Amino acid sequence: MIILGLVIIGLICGSFVNALVWRLYEQSKAKNRKTKKEFSILSGRSMCPKCKHQLFWPDLIPVFSWLSLRGHCRYCQGSISWQYPIVELITALLFTFSYIFWPKPLHGIVIFQFIIWCLLLIGFVALAVYDLRWYLLPNRIVYPLFVLALLEILAPLATQASIISITIAALVGLAIGGGLFYLLFVISNGSWIGGGDVRLGGLLGLIVGGPFYAMLMLIIASGLGTFISIPLLLTGKANRKSHIPFGPMLILGGIIAELFGGSIFHWSLGLFS
Ligand SMILES: [Zn+2]
Repeated sequence: MIILGLVIIGLICGSFVNALVWRLYEQSKAKNRKTKKEFSILSGRSMCPKCKHQLFWPDLIPVFSWLSLRGHCRYCQGSISWQYPIVELITALLFTFSYIFWPKPLHGIVIFQFIIWCLLLIGFVALAVYDLRWYLLPNRIVYPLFVLALLEILAPLATQASIISITIAALVGLAIGGGLFYLLFVISNGSWIGGGDVRLGGLLGLIVGGPFYAMLMLIIASGLGTFISIPLLLTGKANRKSHIPFGPMLILGGIIAELFGGSIFHWSLGLFS
């Protein structure tokens, strides 16, 4: 029952992510206040990204509307990218997956942490989509996520956790996740890695916390980066100057570290003893 609920909420949140990403992008291009307002996330009505026709509920059912209209707008017949249903499905999958593999028993304050985590996931999916489409990680998404991250890591204080150990874990995570990228950013003068990656690395490091989790996240992210870049380079679909967005890989690394870091840690201890 809970899983079904999470799938439905995930699909709806995925639909919100699609709208959010597109609106933020349109707003960033908008030249005047009127257009900016038209694409506001809070007040604007749902509309077709092609013809801007207002959408009504039969057009807004996640995945189902896209499938029933075969990926076309009801009003202008323009094709609507498969990004829409995929993002909805991925968000639903991440919610469900997080619930199934959540590392702590879900009661008390941990439920609160799980809800904040789901909100963070919404932001992560939005960042991944934005980075894949426009090679940017907008601060307008990253900064609010820092606030959520603080709630997530400070929540255990409501029980008996110590503020000192929480602060140390968070600062170490922040330093490893953000610091390493900051170093690469400075050395390469911003050509290897963008400022957005530095902020995202810091944010994810803060959330996963501690040296092991933060390093694990970076190892997974760079492994994924290599795994994806090599075939692209070999087949000539990318060259050494191509920009391959690193945000989605970092996010995936962070999610895996958060959900499975504990199990991986114990498993690796077993390997060395
Ligand atoms: Zn349309």
